[in-house]
Amino acid sequence: MTPRGWAVLTLAGLTVALLVAVALLVPWHRPPAPRADQLAALRDLPAEQVARARAFRGALRPGGWAALAVGLLVALAVGLTPLGGRLVELVARPFGGHWVAQAVLGGLAVLLVADLLTLPFAAWRQTVLTRYGLSTQGWGGWTADLLKSYAVSAVVGALALLGFYTVVRLAPRWWWAFGAAGAAGLVVLLSFVLPVLVEPVFNRFTPMEQGPLRTELTALAARDGVPVRDVLVADASRRTRAVNAYVSGLGPTRRVVVYDTLLREATPAEVTSVVAHELGHAKDRDVWTGTLTGALGAALGVVVLYLLGSAGLLLRLAGVDSIAEPRAFPLLLALVTVAGLVTAPAQALVSRRVEARADAHALALTGDPATFEAMQRRLAGVNLADPDPPRWEYLYSASHPSTVERMAAARAYARETGR
Ligand SMILES: [Zn+2]
Repeated sequence: MTPRGWAVLTLAGLTVALLVAVALLVPWHRPPAPRADQLAALRDLPAEQVARARAFRGALRPGGWAALAVGLLVALAVGLTPLGGRLVELVARPFGGHWVAQAVLGGLAVLLVADLLTLPFAAWRQTVLTRYGLSTQGWGGWTADLLKSYAVSAVVGALALLGFYTVVRLAPRWWWAFGAAGAAGLVVLLSFVLPVLVEPVFNRFTPMEQGPLRTELTALAARDGVPVRDVLVADASRRTRAVNAYVSGLGPTRRVVVYDTLLREATPAEVTSVVAHELGHAKDRDVWTGTLTGALGAALGVVVLYLLGSAGLLLRLAGVDSIAEPRAFPLLLALVTVAGLVTAPAQALVSRRVEARADAHALALTGDPATFEAMQRRLAGVNLADPDPPRWEYLYSASHPSTVERMAAARAYARETGR
C-alpha cells in the first residue's frame, strides 16, 4: 500500500477513535432545563442589569465578528495565492533562503501578519471593556500582555515549525504519520506544561491564605474524593474586574485556580459553589477528556492536511509544488483557519455539555441550589454576561450554558430534591 493509502486508513481510524471518545466521554444524556424555567429565571433578573449586559455584548459584537472575518480573509489571501509563499521567501532571503529560515522565520512572519491585521479589533475591544468598566488595565499593561502573548506564541510556534519541517525533510513520504503523532504529543505536553510555564507569564499565583475558607474548600475536596494539591489565587484584578475560576494541568501540575476578584466580590458560600464546580471538572477528568480529544483532533488535522495538500488545485493557487515545503505554510494556515471556524460550533457544544455536568456536580456536592443560583446571578452581573444570548451566537460560540440555563438547572435540582 502507498503512503497515501495508509493515510486514508489512518484518517478513518482516527475519525472513529475521535467519535468514540466524544460519544463516551461527553455527557450527552442530560437534557437542558426547560425553556419555561429559563424564561422565569430571566424575568427574575433586574431589568437594568440585563439591558446593560446586552448593550455591552452588542458593543463587542461587530468588532468580534469583523476580527473573525478579517482573520479568515487574510488567511485565505496569503494561503490561496502566491503572496504567502513570497513572504516566506522574502523573510528567508538574508539567510540565503535556508530551509530553517523559511520554516521558522517565514512561518512566524506569516502568523505575525495575520495577528497584526486583526490587532485594531483587539484594541477596539479593549476600549469597549474600559468604557464599561470591566478592564482595569491601561494601554501600557494591555501592550505588555500582548507582547508577552506574542513571545509565548513565537516560542511554541518556532519549536512546532522547526520540529514539523525537520520531520518532513527526514521522512519525505511518511512525514504525515510522524507529524500526526507529534501534533498529538504536543497537545498532551502543553496540557502538562501550560500551567507551570505559560500561565505564570501572565499572572502571579499564590496559595490561598490559611483561614476558614481554605479549610472549608480543602474539606470539600476531601469529601468529594478529589485530590487537590492546592487552591491557588490568581492576581486577575490587575487586568479585569471579571470573576472566574478554572482547573488546569494534569497529574502533578493539576490545580484549582480562583481569581482574586472572585474572593473580593463573592461571599464565601458562593466561592465554595464555584470551587465545587471546578472539583466536578477534576473528578470527571475533564482536562484529560479535553486533552485526549484535542490530541486526536490534532493528529486527524495533520492527516487531513496531507491528503488535502496533494490536491493540485490548492497547490496551483498557492504557487507551490508540494504541501510539505515551508513556502506552503500559508496554505496550511488557511486550511487550519477554515477548519477552526467550521468546527467551532461542535467544540462549543461539547464544552457546554461538560460544563453542565460540572454544574450538576456542584449542586449535588454542596446541596445548596440557592447559593448556586446567587453565584450565577453574580457571575452574570459582574462579567456583564448576556443571561440569555442570541441563539445563533450561543450555538456558534458559547462555551458554557447561559446564565438562565444554569439558574433553571439549580431550580430543577431544588424541585427534585425538595431543597
Ligand atoms: Zn467549568
